[in-house]
Amino acid sequence: MFNKVLVLAPHTDDGELGCGGTIARFVEEGAEVYYAAFSVCELSLQSGLPKNTLEVEVREATKELGIKPENLYLYKYAVRTFSNNRQTILDDLIKLRENLKPELILMPSLQDIHQDHQIIANEGVRAFKKSSILGYEMVWNNLSFNTQVFFVLQDRHIQKKVRALSCYRSQSHRDYLNEEFIKSLSMIRGVQIGERFAEVFEAVRWVNR
Ligand SMILES: [Zn+2]
Repeated sequence: MFNKVLVLAPHTDDGELGCGGTIARFVEEGAEVYYAAFSVCELSLQSGLPKNTLEVEVREATKELGIKPENLYLYKYAVRTFSNNRQTILDDLIKLRENLKPELILMPSLQDIHQDHQIIANEGVRAFKKSSILGYEMVWNNLSFNTQVFFVLQDRHIQKKVRALSCYRSQSHRDYLNEEFIKSLSMIRGVQIGERFAEVFEAVRWVNR
């Protein structure tokens, strides 16, 4: 359905968490998938870890999903400073739009309450005015979420998502990186539409050319 898909991740791992299974499916179906992460969270690492830990991990994780290394774009905004860099981030997004001309954008929901996620979602709508946009789900950041657009996934897509997220060894203490949680949520979304697994999105804009 889409040949060029761009995933916007405020922080490394957001894209894999929000839509890793769908990314794996798009890659399998032959789409060119790009991934832009706006923070490699250098200041959020546990002490003793090298500053580039998450940069190394996001390279491994996106590779696991089948994203080409040259399709990965990394920016180094510090966590929780996105609102101070709003215009620069918008400029970065506009450059991505001009260079990649993506047809579909996968980004955090407009209802995501994390301050950095809000900036990426709001600037994403501004930068990609003419593209289809879907907001991915992050249950711990969503007070409410409209389950509007479902992508049916197979076991192999969920396995890839789990493997990709397991690359984030520095974050393994986080409860949302738990394999059971990842599988359970995709099963809940599957049950809603009578399938085994799915990921769900909010429709921000749908353009059918
Ligand atoms: Zn995040």
